Amino acid sequence: MSQHPLPGDPTSGPLPTPAAGTRLDRWLGSYSARTHGMRASEIRALFAVANRPEVVSLAGGMPCLDVLPLDTLAELSRHVVATRGATALQYGSGQGEERLREQILEVMRLEGIDAHPDDVVVTTGSQQALDLVTRIFVDPGDVIVAEAPSYVGALGVFRAYEADVVHVPLDEAGLIPAALEETLARLERAGRRVKLLYTVPNFHNPAGVTLSAERRPQILEIARRHNVLVLEDNPYGLLGFEADPLPALRSLDDDGVIYLGSFSKTFAPGYRVGWAVAPHAVREKLVLASESAILCPSNASQLAISAYLERCDWRGQIKSFRELYRERRDAMIGALAEYLPSASWTVPDGGFYTWVKLPDGLDARAMLPRAVTARVAYVPGTAFYADGQGADHMRLSFCFPTPERIREGVRRLATVVSGESELVDLFGTGGSGPGDDVQAPGPDLA
Ligand code: PMP
Repeated sequence: MSQHPLPGDPTSGPLPTPAAGTRLDRWLGSYSARTHGMRASEIRALFAVANRPEVVSLAGGMPCLDVLPLDTLAELSRHVVATRGATALQYGSGQGEERLREQILEVMRLEGIDAHPDDVVVTTGSQQALDLVTRIFVDPGDVIVAEAPSYVGALGVFRAYEADVVHVPLDEAGLIPAALEETLARLERAGRRVKLLYTVPNFHNPAGVTLSAERRPQILEIARRHNVLVLEDNPYGLLGFEADPLPALRSLDDDGVIYLGSFSKTFAPGYRVGWAVAPHAVREKLVLASESAILCPSNASQLAISAYLERCDWRGQIKSFRELYRERRDAMIGALAEYLPSASWTVPDGGFYTWVKLPDGLDARAMLPRAVTARVAYVPGTAFYADGQGADHMRLSFCFPTPERIREGVRRLATVVSGESELVDLFGTGGSGPGDDVQAPGPDLA
């Protein structure tokens, strides 16, 4: 017998309305088991404060959109609705617009990928592709092998599907083949079912490193031998600062790799357009899974991106992004050398992030409230592991703040690391942290 009155029961009287921001949840007993893995990170609420203008946020993975030609894009959107409005505003194909899928092939050719438009599934950002791939392959308790550390948003998806994430270390040349071999052999001996190897080979989030050209075929050979499907997540591949992109894993093995791409970092995340390229049979399952989740990706977004690729110099735009982020990377690395010589860090050749190892004995998560008080924010390393490692690391992103702000942010961070800064009650809550009604912004997850 339920202890609670049923909704609509005339004898039960009006139900009390919980005040906004209280923790009461009437449906607590009703959630599926799968939601037990869905947790807001403990640090999320802090980011509501970290997003205040006086705080230098080195936390988020938001691209800098200042260099986009907004007037031209506005005109393009107008043109799309004026000339193709009935399509743009209508439902579309579950797999995505054919013209856009052809254009995506052009983008991927820059990384040596040779595919057919039929192999491409357009998704709502590559985040949705991560969800779909996990949904069609992973049962609770299946193993996903992933780099240590790994992208926080992928770990969230894997947790939601109750996967067991097993980390494999990386170094400055990316995922370590010998460690992968050892881990897969150990899991095989233990009778564990490994469904996916999840990897971000280029300008890794959060580690900033890139899988070397020599290691790429080695990783693929190991995965093939152990019959493990590789999930190659590559939103940053075209954002190299020094050299042309390395060949994608998918370009070396079209049957053993699912490749994920995105326009979020090379153009703009607001359209929420990404894609997956998968072996034929897998592609069909992805389309079915996507249709049941969202029916179809947004036609308006796809047509806008398609028009952009058609009419604008998207290669030139990527070049501008590379220059912008290179300057910011230099500012970040220069400031770390000047202000934080007691730490060590990776020097990324592209992308958005550097991975900083704190001096011995410091805990990045414990330090975060003091950092936010000192008006600087970062993401503690523990966010990037499924198993609690990473307290001695932090991810610093250099994509969004200007070089001057980056330098100032690192200078503030140095005062926190050296213990000069004090913890004051920035939240006005008597020291208990930000209130629950503070809406956490998303980009700390990016
Ligand atoms: N993968 C990685 C490694 C990322 O860093 C991100 C965003 N930060 C995503 C996937 C998701 O990107 P989107 O959904 O915007 O394409």
